Amino acid sequence: MQSQKRFTPTFSCEFFPPKTDQGKEKLNATRDALARIQPAYFSVTYGAGGSTQQGTYETIHGLLKAGYDAAPHLSCIGASREQIGELLEGYRAIGVRRIVALRGDMPSGMRDAGDLHYANELVAFIREYTGDHFQIEVAAYPEFHPQARSAAADLEHFRRKVVAGANAAITQYFYNADAYFRFIDDCERMQLDLPVIPGIMPITNFAQLARFSDACGAEIPRWLRLRLESYGDDLESIRAYGLEVVTDLCRRLLEAGAPGLHFYTMNQAGPTLALCDALGIGG
Ligand code: FAD
Repeated sequence: MQSQKRFTPTFSCEFFPPKTDQGKEKLNATRDALARIQPAYFSVTYGAGGSTQQGTYETIHGLLKAGYDAAPHLSCIGASREQIGELLEGYRAIGVRRIVALRGDMPSGMRDAGDLHYANELVAFIREYTGDHFQIEVAAYPEFHPQARSAAADLEHFRRKVVAGANAAITQYFYNADAYFRFIDDCERMQLDLPVIPGIMPITNFAQLARFSDACGAEIPRWLRLRLESYGDDLESIRAYGLEVVTDLCRRLLEAGAPGLHFYTMNQAGPTLALCDALGIGG
């Protein structure tokens, strides 16, 4: 963990693009409430296969106009170089300086994988097309990506994204701090010198969390799953216990030298603010 200690800790928050006017208004309120923790930036996800392209762009534009730093997620699967180039131009024109670069997942029914097949190719393309204009963040998987052939192959693929020009990484969420510490040890062995920011998913709803975790390969440890299951529909107890567990996780990570936290907010301010209050972030 030594190598992570030299980076200044940064906090960031992730949103998804709202679909309705009501959702947009709610997001504006969420964003303003979260400003209290002085996030370095807000990031906005990009739907599978580019399905929320316009929503991502509009949400990013709104954040910038309101005076916040904002980073769009951009996935390459199913897109042509030309389409990605146009998006990059569009983002550069409105003042975006940071991009979260991903491969993404093929939506069911989509046949053509597009021009760029893995995130390392997207990172290389962004560098080729826009030089050093954008700070590039990539995804990291302390518990390994669900499609990885092996742990070693997944680490090698992560290394390629860094060599291609990524400046920092954000992890998939996890509830096992040791997986993150091991991942950082592996980065050190591979001589990768970049901040790897833990992605933090507050626990508010067990059924939803279990669904997400199955899909993205994040493990809910048995002790945590059984405890959350035992609360049934008692959301208040799930939230209280979840807050205690995730606060402990964040505290351990920060004390060990993690260079910040990236909060998966699900467009809600409350759970992230409760965590930050417990951690003393944003006083
Ligand atoms: P990659 O780094 O390309 O890796 C994907 C898989 O391919 C891994 O198993 C890897 O080991 C393997 N691989 C990589 N390179 C090669 C190679 N050259 N040859 C063979 N195998 C290879 N998804 C969205 O759709 N929209 C979002 O906004 C979004 N935001 C995310 C934000 C974060 C912080 C994270 C952690 C994930 C996000 N995702 C998002 C999910 C992500 O798109 C999926 O996890 C996707 O399956 C992999 O994307 P990646 O960029 O990690 O891919």
